[in-house]
Amino acid sequence: MAELSLDVSNNFIKTIIEDDLNSGKHNKIIMRFPPEPNGYLHIGHAKSICINFGLAQQFGGQCNLRFDDTNPEKESEEYVKSIEDNIQWLGFNYGKAKYASDYFDKLYQFAEFFINQDLAYVCDLDVNQMREYRGTFTTPGKNSPYRTRSIAENLDLFRRMKAGEFADGSKTLRLKIDMSSSNLNLRDPVIYRIKRAHHIRTLDNWCIYPMYDYTHCISDALECITHSCCSLEFEDHRPLYDWIVEHLYNAKLIPSRPRQIEFSRLELHHTVTSKRKLNKLVVDKLVNGWDDPRMPTLSGMRRRGYTPDGIKLFANRCGVSKSPNIVELELLENSIREDLENIAPRVMAVLNPLKVVLTNYNEHTTSREANFHPKKPELGARLVEISREIYIEADDFMEHPLDGWQRLTIGSEVRLRHSYVIKCDDVIRDIKGNIIELHCSIDHDTLGKNPIGRKVRGVIHWVSTTKCIPVTIRQYSNLFTVATPDRIEGHDFTEFIDTNSLQVINAYIEPSVANAIPESRYQFERIGYYVVDRYDSNPNNIVFNKIVGLKDGWKK
Ligand code: ATP
Ligand code: MG
Repeated sequence: MAELSLDVSNNFIKTIIEDDLNSGKHNKIIMRFPPEPNGYLHIGHAKSICINFGLAQQFGGQCNLRFDDTNPEKESEEYVKSIEDNIQWLGFNYGKAKYASDYFDKLYQFAEFFINQDLAYVCDLDVNQMREYRGTFTTPGKNSPYRTRSIAENLDLFRRMKAGEFADGSKTLRLKIDMSSSNLNLRDPVIYRIKRAHHIRTLDNWCIYPMYDYTHCISDALECITHSCCSLEFEDHRPLYDWIVEHLYNAKLIPSRPRQIEFSRLELHHTVTSKRKLNKLVVDKLVNGWDDPRMPTLSGMRRRGYTPDGIKLFANRCGVSKSPNIVELELLENSIREDLENIAPRVMAVLNPLKVVLTNYNEHTTSREANFHPKKPELGARLVEISREIYIEADDFMEHPLDGWQRLTIGSEVRLRHSYVIKCDDVIRDIKGNIIELHCSIDHDTLGKNPIGRKVRGVIHWVSTTKCIPVTIRQYSNLFTVATPDRIEGHDFTEFIDTNSLQVINAYIEPSVANAIPESRYQFERIGYYVVDRYDSNPNNIVFNKIVGLKDGWKK
């Protein structure tokens, strides 16, 4: 499938890169993906990963993974590990992961540089005062009373901040830019705060931590990132990004001047794409962890059976632009299905069994080999063994059929997939009158050939009652009942969780899957795509997760 290549379809970022390579501004591009390790990555991050790593790959460049670890209280090793796993699973290489904290010494040095240039000062305003002094979109801010401190005093105070002489939150270091700027980000932004928090990498070495805006652009520059792509909410931060880079570059303190480029965030209907909200689902136990197959996290999608290629195909189809990117879940499901269609072996499973006795089963009733995929002989074949008793799907029988019914009813014929044509002769009922068993006869002259003189149109799937394997199946549907759970005024998004979005059922499957290893994906013929659960499945109890249904559904 040509479309499954990593080619990030034409977009404005690609054009910028092409221009920069053609003009000789850069001869190699270096991108980066900069997650904060404060949660698991979600489908929105997948888009960002595909853009950054995809473009780097396409232009023979490089893409770094850099953890933006400047908020020690919210960050953990578990998140770091999950992020690395996710990116590797998607098939992207980043060499060795980098960390913003690798640059803490440099960042500190540069802060002293700004102080020495009289471009930064230590401020004693507290959070509330700072907000008040900051002004609003329509009114200018006021200068902090501490803005006129001397360079020497600032240097002394900043060093004492670092040495731990002041209480958390009692002082900040701020750039001295312009309190009347129309851009609020330029109104003397805070670049350091005091916070006694244990850091996953620098441990307790620091009690002051740099702010995101200050750290990010400098990290980019130190890594010689050429194109720093991020989502649109950082557009207003770009002037600050450029201000910091410009000053340090002119002073020859950093080796490069990266360019920030913004694109719109991906939002997906019927889910939420915010680590904070996903975290709430996990903490409040509304789902079974970050990798619950209903979660839009990469770990959840992996567990659900989504494929890396399917996710990349989806990211490409979402495109890259500055306009709102709210997409239907169908776009994701279609992409996954398209990939699975070509790679998943097809097997038979019966989810809602009805027993059928083949009354004329005898020594002449034989079985055939059938390929696992009609177009992919390389996926192999297995013997589809029939027996005297089989299970069919209860829905494939109707006592009083509607017009046009092509499946089983009394007196009618159907083809058993990969086997004989059978005819329903009789039904057996329990004392309440419910049908509990069908008696059917085999047309022994129909194995691998059409019956003579009549057409049998219906084909149904089945399994042998003696050879099949009982399995557990988790049927998943959308976690939320509404398209935009976090945008309904006056309601919390958790109110829209569908408590029936996981149903566990027992089913029977053909014996060929007995040795299926975790994460094997199958198409259950006429039903949908399923994956062997990564963690909960074992040879004595195979557990399948529903990945996605078949394209046309299975219309009743
Ligand atoms: P969240 O709000 O879910 O915590 P975030 O933006 O804070 O997301 P980061 O870890 O800071 O998460 O993001 C890493 C990168 O992924 C950033 O460059 C960010 O722009 C990008 N990104 C995050 N969410 C999306 C999204 N929904 N669509 C596209 N890119 C995204
Ligand atoms: Mg963030």
